[in-house]
Amino acid sequence: MATLTFETLQFRQYPVFLKIIFLKYYFFTISNKELENIGQHKTTDNSISFEGVSEKKAHHAFHILIEKGFRELKGILTKKQTMYIHQNSGIPLTGSRFIGIQDRGTNFLEIKPITGCTMGCTFCSVDEGIGSKKMHDFLVEREYIVKETKKLLDFKQSTNMHLYINVHGEPMLYPEIVELVSDLSHIQWVKDITIITTAVLLTKELIEQLAAAGLTEFNVSISAMDVDSAKKIMGNAAYSIEHIKNIVRHAATKIKTTIAPVWMDGINDEEIEKIILFGKEINCPVRIQKFCYNKFGRNPTEEISWEEFFAKIEALEKKTGVILKEKEQKYKLENTKEYPVPFRRREIIEAKIIGHGRYFHEQLCVAKERLISIPLCKKNSGKIKIRILKTTHNVIIGEEI
Ligand code: SF4
Repeated sequence: MATLTFETLQFRQYPVFLKIIFLKYYFFTISNKELENIGQHKTTDNSISFEGVSEKKAHHAFHILIEKGFRELKGILTKKQTMYIHQNSGIPLTGSRFIGIQDRGTNFLEIKPITGCTMGCTFCSVDEGIGSKKMHDFLVEREYIVKETKKLLDFKQSTNMHLYINVHGEPMLYPEIVELVSDLSHIQWVKDITIITTAVLLTKELIEQLAAAGLTEFNVSISAMDVDSAKKIMGNAAYSIEHIKNIVRHAATKIKTTIAPVWMDGINDEEIEKIILFGKEINCPVRIQKFCYNKFGRNPTEEISWEEFFAKIEALEKKTGVILKEKEQKYKLENTKEYPVPFRRREIIEAKIIGHGRYFHEQLCVAKERLISIPLCKKNSGKIKIRILKTTHNVIIGEEI
């Protein structure tokens, strides 16, 4: 009997198929028929055995099925088809605005190891989660994103790097978030690491683990304190502001925690003051964000002017006695080296299609170690001729020609 054991896979046998869970939040299935082609099988939580087959044959045949299964990977919580980007995938982590590493040539770096969300906030600037028009999600292998971050930081040579795990979605859905923080915190250039989260998936245990791993700050989005308003604004009936209050109260005793509500004119005006008082009670800074219209996001109200916004903030500072604006910039923004952009605008190049983008007609391509998004693309495989439309800070967008 050949027994194959896995660290990142778990097995659940059903009458006609085997469900394989990858890193707790993702899965694919293999039919029993396909498994029988290898031999009679039995599973435990993390191993599969085949009768009357050599270890070598079982290993080879089962890995072919796994490779095929990964192409059908789905999120258990998000229910979306998910592309797994790993070191051998040939997919670079530079080039996209929604996945990988985003560098704007400063000492602030955004790390995006995942897409997808379990909320459906009415103000979501990137149209994520419940009600989103996005069709596909992405997940990056931890070792790969850590290696590429280190490579970029070695190139930038700044000893004052602030890392933001700031994803199009909820970063706590990343199955190895603790290990990721730990790995990133060991890179010599990294000064601090902030996670931008709703705190929905935080537990006391996870907070302890993240603190021990080297996380320096939580930035928590809370946009209402009233139970029903909070559910409505977060777009999820299961959202519990009581849980959030308890967990944020605890987080603030372990790691620096900032509360960052989005102020939407005419929607949560009455809630903002309550959030400020909650921040005061638990000794957390509150940094209110102005709702800004976003062409690709969800827009529940009109955007107000910055003058009006700052006037409202000042009035609230006076009323509550809480400072809501940074006296001076928290971290000094420094310009640093960034990878050169390998394309010119309007340049025509040939690229290889590697799969779906986030939207139905969007495809992703690769050329010159950059991931390129093609929003309205008819072709869905092979090579494609494209015109480069945007290259700002290595976010590359092209059009099919
Ligand atoms: S705002 Fe954040 S938490 Fe809300 S749906 Fe968008 S990504 Fe999810």
